[in-house]
Amino acid sequence: MPLYEFRCTHCDNLFEQIQPYHADWPLCPVCGSETMRIMSSSSVKFKGSGFHCTDYTKHGRVRHHHVNKT
Ligand SMILES: [Zn+2]
Repeated sequence: MPLYEFRCTHCDNLFEQIQPYHADWPLCPVCGSETMRIMSSSSVKFKGSGFHCTDYTKHGRVRHHHVNKT
């Protein structure tokens, strides 16, 4: 199953989840809001800019979720 990255549309929490291709997108584990999917394998550049974005989150409760490819 593919590994997807999701970003919460509400609190910008970033997290990864392995799930089937057609599964519903998960809700944010922090605040329960809807998330948008980030394609982690094919868009490294996009992910980089996304990470930059989280540096500026106003809430301060977003942890840096560095992705270690293992
Ligand atoms: Zn959230």
